[in-house]
Amino acid sequence: MDSQFTAGPSSNDRAGRDATVGDVPGPRSPASGADHAPLPFDVIIAGCGPTGAMLAAELRLHDVRVLVLEKETEPKSFVRIVGLHIRSLELMAMRGLLDRVLPHGRRRPAGGFFAAIPKPAPAGLDSAYAYLLGIPQPVVERLLEEHATALGAQVRRGCAVAGLEQDDEGVTVELADGEQLRSRYLVGCDGGRSTVRKLLGVGFPGEPSRNDTLMGEMEVGVPQEEIAAKVAELRETHQRFWLRPFGGGVYSVVVPALGVGDRAKPPTLEDFKQALRAIAGTDFGVHSPRWMSRFGDATRLAERYRVGRVLLAGDAAHIHPPIGGQGLNLGVQDAFNLGWKLAAQIRGWAPETLLDTYQAERRPVAEDVLDNTRAQMELLSAEPGAQAVRRLLSELMDFDEVNRHLIEKITAIGIRYDFGEGPDLLGSRLPDIDVKQGNLYSLLHRGRGLLLDRTERLTVGGWSDRVDHLADPAAALDVPCVLLRPDGHVAWIGDDQQDLDDHLSRWFGRPAD
Ligand SMILES: Cc1cc2nc3c(=O)[nH]c(=O)nc-3n(C[C@H](O)[C@H](O)[C@H](O)COP(=O)(O)OP(=O)(O)OC[C@H]3O[C@@H](n4cnc5c(N)ncnc54)[C@H](O)[C@@H]3O)c2cc1C
Repeated sequence: MDSQFTAGPSSNDRAGRDATVGDVPGPRSPASGADHAPLPFDVIIAGCGPTGAMLAAELRLHDVRVLVLEKETEPKSFVRIVGLHIRSLELMAMRGLLDRVLPHGRRRPAGGFFAAIPKPAPAGLDSAYAYLLGIPQPVVERLLEEHATALGAQVRRGCAVAGLEQDDEGVTVELADGEQLRSRYLVGCDGGRSTVRKLLGVGFPGEPSRNDTLMGEMEVGVPQEEIAAKVAELRETHQRFWLRPFGGGVYSVVVPALGVGDRAKPPTLEDFKQALRAIAGTDFGVHSPRWMSRFGDATRLAERYRVGRVLLAGDAAHIHPPIGGQGLNLGVQDAFNLGWKLAAQIRGWAPETLLDTYQAERRPVAEDVLDNTRAQMELLSAEPGAQAVRRLLSELMDFDEVNRHLIEKITAIGIRYDFGEGPDLLGSRLPDIDVKQGNLYSLLHRGRGLLLDRTERLTVGGWSDRVDHLADPAAALDVPCVLLRPDGHVAWIGDDQQDLDDHLSRWFGRPAD
């Protein structure tokens, strides 16, 4: 479905004759009410992980001057395979990125991720991208960073944010070497131990890690068949244990740690051996590690996502165990929600409360993910009671509705923001339906709003610099018209021009003169 990679804001000649396909963002012309202090950057982003890189790209679609500060001098090297779930694949398709990402990953069935209970996904999931893409995290980060820099974002490596101060006009960011930089806004995408969050004094309540897991790649000293038999036996009850051949005699090793340790200190080979012996009665002769790391199941949520001109996104705002593979997906989706709103604030057309809808919409989503990972961790316990609940849930998942509910949570396609009273579609995402130009998502590459109009008699009028209009009586919709936000969520459903204008004002501010 995904047809092109947009290396920069592109013209869009697929939209219909009367489609208003606004201008390519060029040099900014100050709009009245714009937040326009003469500062060198509009937004500084702390951290060039997946969240920071995605946010930088989203802001660049709207010509926002972005600087990303990354404390590491080189991209991460250890190869952790992560899963991109359906909603993240949809976001990539919406920005013309999916074709670049797909060749680097392996498609796997969408089901079987809730607490690793091996149930296939229910039939007929409503997405053109109903699979999981297993892909190394460093590749995702590289592709997103390339996407952001191709759009004009600046990335400075070896720069750790160490201090911040905000005033009415902007934020002064201090680096570890004492250099000071100014911008209108700062976004902390600097991971679970976020310096920005700490500097803001934002609380991060939740539970500390109770169960650490060791993870690494190393060679083994026993035959493959012996390992396979032992793994099959142990996985019956120990879901947190895994030994998987990685190629070239190297194995990926995942094993519960003996106790909770200091995450900043990498584990040793001896730690792996002891942990393997404790669970399997043998250390499989592991040797020659390529890399070794430790992760925990700490679960925490930032009390606030915004303090004045400073915002938090991704792991900086929420952490939880990796079960279900949701953390990176959640962060990238935070960035997708925040990008156009912050850009609107900077361009000067944001309605007064738009930026605050970021926390109002995304914090409850994170709360839900935290809860579902808490539940999944209980289901992984080897205790008899937990095992019984696991068996029961496994039976319940044979009911299509139960299975569908859980998969819509994990893949984030079930998210519905609260936009007020209305049909289920209001506030939900619109799948990539067929339209006369081909597919809907290919019309969203530039991060603008879209009126999809089957009546052919509505107009986006004074909002045409922010919102495209596609008149298509044959669009595969069972409602007359929808107004889509730049993140693909349905902001309005109807056929009345005045009602539409009211909703355009609500989401896209005052019309241009
Ligand atoms: C074992 C394991 C498996 C996982 N599997 C999955 C999965 O399958 N699917 C999934 O969705 N998620 C998965 N995750 C979670 C995922 O890795 C994280 O949620 C994701 O990396 C968060 O992205 P982020 O950009 O918010 O933060 P990070 O990836 O932590 O990036 C933060 C960046 O900020 C930089 N930084 C830190 N401090 C500063 C500073 N002061 N100044 C400047 N830069 C700074 C860091 O160097 C880093 O580059 C897994 C995690 C683990 C541990």
